[in-house]
Amino acid sequence: AKVLVTGANGYIAIWVVRLLLEQGYSVRGTVRSAGKGEYLTEYFGKLGFGDKLEIVVVEDITKEGAFDQAVQGVDAIEHTASPFITSLVNLSDFVDPAVRGTVGVLQSAIKHAPNVKRIVITSSCGAVMAPPPQPTIFSETDWNTSSQMDIDKNGVNADPLSKYRVSKTLAEKAAWEFYEKHKGSIGWELVVINPPFVFGPPIQEITGGPESLNTSLKPFYDILVGDGPKTEKLLSTSNSWVDVRDTALSHILAIQKEAAAGERIIVCGGAYLWQEWFDAANTIQPYPLPNHPPAKGMPGITAPYVIQYNTAKADKLLGIRYKTKAETIRDTLEIFAAKGW
Ligand code: NDP
Repeated sequence: AKVLVTGANGYIAIWVVRLLLEQGYSVRGTVRSAGKGEYLTEYFGKLGFGDKLEIVVVEDITKEGAFDQAVQGVDAIEHTASPFITSLVNLSDFVDPAVRGTVGVLQSAIKHAPNVKRIVITSSCGAVMAPPPQPTIFSETDWNTSSQMDIDKNGVNADPLSKYRVSKTLAEKAAWEFYEKHKGSIGWELVVINPPFVFGPPIQEITGGPESLNTSLKPFYDILVGDGPKTEKLLSTSNSWVDVRDTALSHILAIQKEAAAGERIIVCGGAYLWQEWFDAANTIQPYPLPNHPPAKGMPGITAPYVIQYNTAKADKLLGIRYKTKAETIRDTLEIFAAKGW
């Protein structure tokens, strides 16, 4: 079977491509320029998958019919391409590619991909919630209405993630609306995956130093390896996370598991305090970055987990054994070490 992966050069997507190839699928990956495909061709060529991977350029995913060619002949689609960088200024810089890209993939599939059975959209826990004032356990029934309110009240750039969260919310809503409207006349089912912060080994092309890491890994590096703050406030700050390999696996299972059809699924490995990542780092023997021995932080510090997720649905439908903090941080630091950081 052949699977289309959009934004194939991204942090999460390259793992999706890798797991698909390892499981025997053929993959067509889209990138925004030919140059961004070269690393993929080389990386997967070295792993022996050269003849199973095809790269196509989709320069502008907001254009009408952008994916009309790319979807032809595929059996499933994993749509991951969407802006997740904090430097974009305007709300539309996020919303246009997120919404038009998502609806565009679905439209192209209806017109040009008669064999498609599943379409998986990478949404986000940013479409589920914005950080709440009180400790809260969220589930798939929750939708983020606070980020738009934050923008209305405090301006578009007050919280750097609000624009991003709004774009993910609108894109996911648009996907479900489109699906509900066309359900009766199409041969495929929609599955939406909602990850919280994704950490774990980066295998994508990294063109510079740690500052050029993707948005979720950059603070992970800064705090745990770099000069990022190690104050009591930071160490007791909490959130939820999932390993990038588990995130990718959920995308594969989403096209394989019958029961996932038509479902919105939160995939989450658990909650963390930053202190717990320091604790995990201090258990690794030998430590992979001898020039940056791990800080101790403030062992024993406690604070409530403010953002947690009920993962019963993913457990039932996908059944992933999530990586632990110790596994994730060890494998991530090994990649940093291989880069000489
Ligand atoms: P990356 O930045 O590594 O990858 C993003 C991908 O989307 C790249 O291929 C990028 O292409 C592409 N992209 C970005 N902006 C545009 C645009 N305007 N038009 C077309 N393509 C674009 O991020 P991640 O791998 O982390 O993100 C992948 C997906 O996962 C996104 O949908 C994101 O919202 C979602 N997600 C990520 C989480 C995380 O913590 N990392 C958590 C939850 C969801 P290019 O390289 O050319 O810019």
